[in-house]
Amino acid sequence: MTLTIALSKGRIFEETLPLLAAAGIVPAEDPESSRKLIIGTNHADVRLVIVRASDVPTYVQYGAADLGIAGRDVLIEHGGDGLYQPLDLNIAKCKMMVAVENGFDYQNAVRQGARLKVATKYPKIAREHFAAKGVHVDIIKLYGSMELAPLVGLADAIVDLVSTGGTLRANNLVAVEHIIDISSRLVVNQAALKLKYDRIQPVLDAFASAVPA
Ligand code: ATP
Ligand code: MG
Repeated sequence: MTLTIALSKGRIFEETLPLLAAAGIVPAEDPESSRKLIIGTNHADVRLVIVRASDVPTYVQYGAADLGIAGRDVLIEHGGDGLYQPLDLNIAKCKMMVAVENGFDYQNAVRQGARLKVATKYPKIAREHFAAKGVHVDIIKLYGSMELAPLVGLADAIVDLVSTGGTLRANNLVAVEHIIDISSRLVVNQAALKLKYDRIQPVLDAFASAVPA
């Protein structure tokens, strides 16, 4: 029985390598240099599929992958249908924040009950955050480079991931509100967990034992 694990390139792949190693799994190729989308491992019956970060939950939900690793941001936006989420892996850590252009008085705008234009790749997280605060917003869905939006008048604020804050600073933006802490989680297809339990449970245990502090 083949075990298929969905991963995205970049930081998630890099930070997952030690977890895979703890489970005795070593990829046969580096997805950064290989153009292959299916990457074998040192086990003939374990393979990795390389997909967009935001597509990982979908591959696992439909059983095209048995396991996957996805950010909490991506999982909230996806909704989590059909996914078992047994483990916070404590990798790819960052924060979901509200940010505005330097000089924009966000707190005052909120106090005044202004209707805010908010640009984001994360409409669900943004909508829920502002609804809970009772702030009226128009959400503008973007697919990247949210930092640009307030600078050119597309939005008053953005909802985006922040780690060091370097990108915000470089673009004259400031974080004004913390929404949630983000890290990546292991997700498992619910049917696969039952059908391939003997294959999957040892991987879960190995990952759990190797989660960074
Ligand atoms: P794509 O670039 O394909 O649109 P993406 O930008 O979501 O996808 P990454 O930038 O690799 O892909 O981010 C993957 C995951 O890593 C995100 O879903 C998030 O959970 C986490 N992440 C994003 N930015 C950071 C960051 N600056 N520091 C730490 N973790 C991050
Ligand atoms: Mg990115």
